[in-house]
Amino acid sequence: MLVLEYKAVVKKIQAMAINEAIRTSQFVRNKVLRFWMDNRGVGKKELYQYNTQLRSEFEFVKNLNSHACQASVENVERAINRFFDNCKKNKLGKKGYPRFKKDSRSVEYKTSGWKLHPSKRRITFSDNKGIGTLKLLGKWDIHTYPVEFIKRVRIVRRADGYYVQFCVKAESTTEPRTGNGEVGLDVGLEYFYSDSNGHHEENPRFLRKAEKSIKHAQRRIYTKEKGKNNRRKARGRYARKHLKVSRQREEHAKTRARNVCKANAFVAYEDLNVRGLVKNHHLAKSINDVAWTSFRRWLEYFALKFNTEVVAVAPHYTSQKCSNCGETVKKGLSTRTHNCSHCGTVLQRDVNAAINILVSAKSTGGHPGSNAWGDVSSTCVGQKICKGKKRQ
Ligand SMILES: [Zn+2]
Repeated sequence: MLVLEYKAVVKKIQAMAINEAIRTSQFVRNKVLRFWMDNRGVGKKELYQYNTQLRSEFEFVKNLNSHACQASVENVERAINRFFDNCKKNKLGKKGYPRFKKDSRSVEYKTSGWKLHPSKRRITFSDNKGIGTLKLLGKWDIHTYPVEFIKRVRIVRRADGYYVQFCVKAESTTEPRTGNGEVGLDVGLEYFYSDSNGHHEENPRFLRKAEKSIKHAQRRIYTKEKGKNNRRKARGRYARKHLKVSRQREEHAKTRARNVCKANAFVAYEDLNVRGLVKNHHLAKSINDVAWTSFRRWLEYFALKFNTEVVAVAPHYTSQKCSNCGETVKKGLSTRTHNCSHCGTVLQRDVNAAINILVSAKSTGGHPGSNAWGDVSSTCVGQKICKGKKRQ
């Protein structure tokens, strides 16, 4: 699946209609989830029947395209399946019991309820939510794909406006690799990652730069009076700054992951459960956590593209073990060098860990295709290309 994204030109009344559609889709999702919670053992069929019932019961649900409602049910289904999967695999920690959504930002249509203008620069939503025709900004050529290849259309609300995403079923073409290396990756705070060949990938500077400005914008919110327009505006500025960083971070993660997969036939990384990491409210760290998550997601994407084997290994003692002799060398977080008293090996701490990760992946086979896709809907799989113009 390829995801093409456009910025949409939206009038105020249309924005209200879109928000209403988003709310309805969230309503259906939460209602169906509630139904599943209250009725132990109900299956897929009952969930869809309940959806039909909701449509006859509530006028505003009926106004949303029926396939869009189904997409919400599918969303619940995926959450339930993921939960059962985690239970079956006896995953450590939280099993991810499905939760209610409070702040949905998107509504998903399938193959009906919308129509592309012949020029493909406009899209019309034809259900009774009254969204109407949206003009699309962006250079990506949706017209090179036949309409029947478009499997999903989503409207996404962001801090700087509304976007329309097309999920296109495109042939995935593999590209040739430039190298056949094997590499282990260790993600850390000091560097973006360190690999088993001794290379350190620097943390991108924009994160540190952004940290200051985000913090500033955040503080500004609280200087404005609650419920007033200025406060709303300050919140918008803060959100847009976050959005900018998240776009830069995504781009950075993508290019790094691409380079790694292009140059290597075998890539091993540590299957850290990012959410399970020590809770730390330091902003730079929380930004980094998200950066690693998207880095790993892109690794898996490019693994398919370059036919690279990407393997996740369990994070056990990778930093404590000596990569040369296997003895345990205890060290705290602040010790940056691995200095083995048993065999005399001296290595930078993260490089030692990266070698252990590579060795471990090759000996156990790890578990390819780990959970790095995490909490995303099926249509997120694939490339996301944002060519929309920014409108302030
Ligand atoms: Zn040693």
